[in-house]
Amino acid sequence: MSPVPLIERYRDALPLEPDDPVISLNEGSTPLIEAPVISEMVGARVLLKFEGANPTGSFKDRGMTVAVSRAAGRGAEAVICASTGNTAASAAAYAARAGVRGAVIVPEGKIAIGKLAQALMHGARVVALRGNFDDALRIVRELAERHPIELVNSVNPYRIEGQKTAAFEVIDELGEAPDALAIPVGNAGNVTAWNRGFTERGARPILYGFQAEGAAPLVAGHPIPNPETVASAIRIGNPARWEEAMDAITSSRGRVAAVSDERILAAYHLLAEREGVFCEPASAASVAGILEHGLPVAEGQDPPETVVCVLTGHGLKDPDTALGKAPAVIPCDAELAAVERVVFD
Ligand SMILES: *Cc1c(COP(=O)(O)O)cnc(C)c1O
Repeated sequence: MSPVPLIERYRDALPLEPDDPVISLNEGSTPLIEAPVISEMVGARVLLKFEGANPTGSFKDRGMTVAVSRAAGRGAEAVICASTGNTAASAAAYAARAGVRGAVIVPEGKIAIGKLAQALMHGARVVALRGNFDDALRIVRELAERHPIELVNSVNPYRIEGQKTAAFEVIDELGEAPDALAIPVGNAGNVTAWNRGFTERGARPILYGFQAEGAAPLVAGHPIPNPETVASAIRIGNPARWEEAMDAITSSRGRVAAVSDERILAAYHLLAEREGVFCEPASAASVAGILEHGLPVAEGQDPPETVVCVLTGHGLKDPDTALGKAPAVIPCDAELAAVERVVFD
């Protein structure tokens, strides 16, 4: 099968106008990977939806293709977003593809280096804000009200529409919805989107949302003024889709829970070393969550037998975190015996 733009595959379920151009990098159709080691550890069949395999390396591309196509159809000349990194990378790529200007506002010093490289390579104007993500989002919302520029954060309804297709793909591939979904939660757009996708297909899996301990407003029940976590993609203190996400999780009889950075990094290493899947730290929160909290169910409810963990972004995005705790490389002379000693030691 040749690659097909997500918009072509699911056009009937997407709110685009017939004349909108299709601005696509053939996103979606990401692998759903069996995770035998983690399955054994949690006592259920665990599958990994590897969203890092999207064109810019995160699920943001699913929403961006729809948001930028609609913006182009409407004649927008520029797109803007606040971002912890991946939205910036994706917006910059799709803006380049559409031939419109891109501007991205990121929290100074808090963005993984690969994401910064992407945004700059795609020619976006990159603004490093002396503030956090929540400050950046507040400012771009005001800018978009004052200027003819399209806001492509997940407050943009087309982003959610595009992202819901991940749920369609899982159902299409498994032949039915999984019993549960485990997903990292930052600004809470993605859990909202998955829930919409399942709902539109008449499915009702249990939703487990996981936040990093230092950035867990949904668990605390109030905004966190200075969120901190190694998982920079979910370093968000005041999620834009707070109510929608909580409604989705609660009505699925699921939970939102926090996981420590230590456990996030342990899951990050486990995924890479034992399952062969390299995701970014924020993504590993989904696996860390089910390893720490198990698969809790409401009274009288059957425990889930099949769980999909969403791995939201690619590990290559954040080489600094990967190399920070990695074993040292081994220097060696260019002689067979020396290499032999080092390799078989
Ligand atoms: C954006 C992002 C998240 C969080 O998604 P929300 O929609 O903000 O909840 C998680 N992981 C990665 C890698 C992301 O890029």
